[in-house]
Amino acid sequence: MNYSELAAPYIRAIAPYQPGKPIAELERELGISGIVKLASNENPLGTSPLAVAAMNAAISDIARYPDGSCFELKNALSERYQIESTCIVLGNGSNDLLELAARAFLAPGDKVVYADHAFAVYALATQAAGATGISVPATKEFGHDLSAMLQAAVQHKVKMVFIANPNNPTGTFLGATELLGFLRAVPPQVLVVLDEAYNEYLPQNLRYDSVSWLRDFPNLIISRTFSKAYGLAGLRVGYALAGELVVDMLNRVRQPFNVNSVAQAAAVAALQDEAFVRRTCELNQAGMEQVTQGLTRLGLKYIPSFGNFVCCHIANSAQSGENGAGQMYRRLLELGVIVRPIANYDMPDYLRVSIGLESENEKFLSALAQALGETA
Ligand SMILES: *Cc1c(COP(=O)(O)O)cnc(C)c1O
Repeated sequence: MNYSELAAPYIRAIAPYQPGKPIAELERELGISGIVKLASNENPLGTSPLAVAAMNAAISDIARYPDGSCFELKNALSERYQIESTCIVLGNGSNDLLELAARAFLAPGDKVVYADHAFAVYALATQAAGATGISVPATKEFGHDLSAMLQAAVQHKVKMVFIANPNNPTGTFLGATELLGFLRAVPPQVLVVLDEAYNEYLPQNLRYDSVSWLRDFPNLIISRTFSKAYGLAGLRVGYALAGELVVDMLNRVRQPFNVNSVAQAAAVAALQDEAFVRRTCELNQAGMEQVTQGLTRLGLKYIPSFGNFVCCHIANSAQSGENGAGQMYRRLLELGVIVRPIANYDMPDYLRVSIGLESENEKFLSALAQALGETA
């Protein structure tokens, strides 16, 4: 019996998500230490000390089930964003919310619009629900083409659009005017999932108040996370903000205890530590300059990024028929630096590197210089 045939064809067609290589795995493989991981857009400062203290305190009560309604965390978010608690859903990472949105609203036959080179989970969540994805070409230097996406979204059977702003892995950004224009034009029966995983990294002059848009657009679902700027990636907490009716549907498919009690406590504390988020953004801005200037010195092109990571172009080397970025990825691993190959994003000539501490960025740049010298 071929048990995979018991799964629906659309499940069998899924290519699983490829995460960044864990440090411990490379340590085991190479028997080296001092590895620098710049592969998963994690916070190089770690976690807010307030969140660490809250986690330690929460452990004493770990025999109890968590609060399935996340009362305190919802209250904290409600106060922060001036939105009713009934418009908030918590998730096991924002990945959970992307999937809840797909599971609650999509069925086989439905269509979903997203962009080429957009975050991989949109296609995965779409496929797992048996719906059909429409990937729209990114004409603007790898960024979402909203007018092309709008044209796709008005087609028969389209029920959902995923927009990542900034997008991962490209780091591209859409301004508020463009986004609002899209929301005004898209039919009201099409749900728009606006994934703002890197929102906290945006500079003041590019910030926009998407939460206030929820009043005018009951088809809007905003997703955010504690994994990136808040430094809680390992704990898994994210949230969605949407109209009450949409939230009600997400809650129907949500596991009753999808956010653990330690995560809830940590997220409440992390939200209060605004200074930590500010330091994180400052470090990221300085690190982004360090890395992009370093890339330019090495003669490498990169895609200007609004997140805590950047994609650099690696040309194919003359001697080898092999893909240059794939080769460079493996050479950097040998030198103790983990970055992210993104051939699975249809970007085989790019590597995505997360912005780390100054010393980590330096180690990446010197390993890159060494590897380039070897292939030149
Ligand atoms: C990292 C990321 C997420 C989800 O991260 P979680 O850890 O599940 O919250 C969502 N969207 C984008 C674009 C991301 O880069």
